[in-house]
Amino acid sequence: MSKTIDSEPMTLRLFNTLTGQLDPLAPSDGKSLRMYACGPTVYDYGHIGNFRTFLQVDVLRRFLKLSGVPVLHVMNITDVDDKIIRNAAQAGVPIGEYTPRFVDAFFEDLEALRVERPEKIARATEHIERMVELVQKLAAAGAAYQTEDGSWYFRLAAFPEYGKLSKKDLSGMEDGARVDVDEYEKDSARDFALWKAAKPGEASWETAIGRGRPGWHIECSAMAMEYLGESFDLHAGGEDLMFPHHENEIAQSETATHKPFARHWMHVRFLLVEGRKMSKSEGNFFTLRDLLLKGHKASAIRLALISVPYRHQLNFTFEGLTEATSAVERLRTFHDRLTNTRWPAKNEAQGNDEEVAKAIGTAKEDFYAALANDLNTAEARAAIFELVRKANTFADAGKLHESDAREMLAVLKDFDAVFDVLEDRDAAPTQRAIDWAVQSGRQAEIAPELLARPSVTDEAIEALIAERTEAKKQRNFARADQIRNELAEKGIILEDTRDGVRWKRK
Ligand SMILES: [Zn+2]
Repeated sequence: MSKTIDSEPMTLRLFNTLTGQLDPLAPSDGKSLRMYACGPTVYDYGHIGNFRTFLQVDVLRRFLKLSGVPVLHVMNITDVDDKIIRNAAQAGVPIGEYTPRFVDAFFEDLEALRVERPEKIARATEHIERMVELVQKLAAAGAAYQTEDGSWYFRLAAFPEYGKLSKKDLSGMEDGARVDVDEYEKDSARDFALWKAAKPGEASWETAIGRGRPGWHIECSAMAMEYLGESFDLHAGGEDLMFPHHENEIAQSETATHKPFARHWMHVRFLLVEGRKMSKSEGNFFTLRDLLLKGHKASAIRLALISVPYRHQLNFTFEGLTEATSAVERLRTFHDRLTNTRWPAKNEAQGNDEEVAKAIGTAKEDFYAALANDLNTAEARAAIFELVRKANTFADAGKLHESDAREMLAVLKDFDAVFDVLEDRDAAPTQRAIDWAVQSGRQAEIAPELLARPSVTDEAIEALIAERTEAKKQRNFARADQIRNELAEKGIILEDTRDGVRWKRK
């Protein structure tokens, strides 16, 4: 996509956890931005905290592309780990039968939220060989050792820079103390498992370093380097992954290659729900599906989750979601107005309306500047809504011309290349969530208004509108009103404009 800003090319300055400052982000090979983002562990449905991270990474990749930077984005799917093994055992199926529905659900959810697919999706279980090779390399360097049960551990003492990403004070680090679970909460560093020896009933692979399965951390190192090279531009993930997961990725990779692993690290902050940490016991834990079934639209959820910049804590509230719903509405109405009105052509003598030209120029400039400044989505969004407000005023005052409308549509197009909420695609994800709920015995979770609303096809709506127009022509206003009410009951809103009738789904 070509750059639409005429002035200086905008280089994104993004906060780098490693250096603790805003650093310019550009492809080091001069071609494409090579980035890795930790993907999901597929043992359950994704919650909105997970999706906030994927959405903010989506904002990053979309803004890079909009600025003319091609992206090579790799994301892993962790399809073997402690939690998967535990859940699959409870369900009484092998992990290979347990994970596929959560992988499918994950991509369905990303699609609902309009998150672009990374260029490469890498599954852990398809890269066991690479992981084994990496463990062998570390063993050869004296940085990995095997314990009696056949597991392999990374020797933290082999990497003196350990802690450089999270800046944790690890002075209390115990030499040789080990941990074998994939995640550990404590602020203490331990030698961590690279490879776990096979246990009865657990998934395992027969390999050159013994029978077993990979640890979580080695998966990301091996797959990132497989597709992006030993050194690459950016590594992203949720803030909870910074320690120990990312710290361990750095330790393994840099010990094996003696090269910097990722130059730039991006961490997306956690969200709160109604002011509190999201947890199942607090009753404020929501998957994307939960929200869709409550009747919230995918576009509004997307907007609510990206409107607060990634380094700020987002307090997700239902009030905020309602606000996002009307914000999306306002944008779509404005877009429709620009598109569907026959704006007067500018006559030569009039020249440019300074006020209008300035509003358009400012919006465009502010939008790009905000995103280039550490992806400030709040300010980027505000710039566009300021344009909407002003443009509506100009239009009401008869100051808008066809060329202005065209320029504004171009600004909206740039905005939507990142935000992606303008086109109404909300019906499909909601319907899919309803179908899923019915299939999985969760009918009770479907909001009554979603079930109560009889579905009506676009063709049926158009036919009724045509009938209503005809009725009005015949001066049969009773029938015309009846049709309007009938459609309103089905959630279809009609708007009479001088260019004809427009309709939308509520
Ligand atoms: Zn990872």
